[in-house]
Amino acid sequence: MRPFCQTPNSTAVDRDPITDSHQLLSLLGLAGQSHRALTATSFPCKVPMQFVRRMATEDPQDPLLRQVLPTVDEEMPAPGFVRDPVGDLDAETSPGLLRKYRGRALLIATGACAIHCRYCFRRHFPYVDHQATASHLDNAIAAIAADDSVSEVILSGGDPLTLGNRRLTALFRRLESISHVRRLRLHSRVPVVQPSRVDEALCALIAGTPRPVIVVLHANHAAELDDAVAAALDRLIRAGATLLNQSVLLRGVNDCVDALAKLSEQLFACGVLPYYLHQLDPVAGAAHFLVPDETALSLYRALRERLPGYLVPRLVREIAGGRAKTPLPELSLATAFG
Ligand SMILES: *Cc1c(COP(=O)(O)O)cnc(C)c1O
Ligand code: SF4
Repeated sequence: MRPFCQTPNSTAVDRDPITDSHQLLSLLGLAGQSHRALTATSFPCKVPMQFVRRMATEDPQDPLLRQVLPTVDEEMPAPGFVRDPVGDLDAETSPGLLRKYRGRALLIATGACAIHCRYCFRRHFPYVDHQATASHLDNAIAAIAADDSVSEVILSGGDPLTLGNRRLTALFRRLESISHVRRLRLHSRVPVVQPSRVDEALCALIAGTPRPVIVVLHANHAAELDDAVAAALDRLIRAGATLLNQSVLLRGVNDCVDALAKLSEQLFACGVLPYYLHQLDPVAGAAHFLVPDETALSLYRALRERLPGYLVPRLVREIAGGRAKTPLPELSLATAFG
């Protein structure tokens, strides 16, 4: 299986993501798998070419492909898998602003993402009504300004780095003007899936803000981190950002100790510390990615025995209404001791 980047047509333009699952399969020499592909309409196929090139050809089990290819598995009925599994709609204090945890406010800066991850817990989130568009954004920022318990603002989405530098700069300037907001955090998969977006203007914005900037990335497999990504992450570090990573534990992608250990090692090699390993949120359409809790815990224990503590992400689950992300080991203790 040759890496896709060595195929002759790899210089194709990067502007347009692949939005057709059958085209994606053909690009990878997998046209024969087309019967499994789904033409998803409400949450369509979307994957940047920069990410496609890191996939192996002729491998239907490729861990990167599995994250983004809509398949008929999504239509299997799965009791308990719902549309808003983490209670986001209940946590919304004004449109586009989520307040779940003390001291932190999460701003849905946009509903758009550069890539559509099939396991995403926000795949059914009604972004059109909730993203912080113009007047929503004004209200959300006013709410942050009026509450001096908010010391950290998290720009999320969607993916905040799908916004252009001009809008991002305007947003930073408004948040910087609020003295009690001491830290700015970006939750973004863009530096991993579309590293070319980490351009000079973005780095200048991060370097120029008077607040510390934390970028929480999202990568699930070591193969996502190629040289172009490493270079983009290096640019962010030089701009002064602190880099962390969150992953989701996904069946058929990273549900073995070797894959998780390799991911942590590769992240560290790129200057990133593993932060969270999320147990899958039970979102409708993603049941085929579920790793049972017992398996998740044994993987986590094995990882702790394999790696230095700082390379072991916290294995957590998000429980609607919880005051923090809940560590899975604590949950298992709670059931053991009632
Ligand atoms: C996950 C999350 C945060 C951040 O939690 P940390 O534990 O600080 O990373 C903040 N707000 C919301 C709504 C979240 O879902
Ligand atoms: S980038 Fe993040 S928010 Fe966007 S689809 Fe993927 S997991 Fe969901």
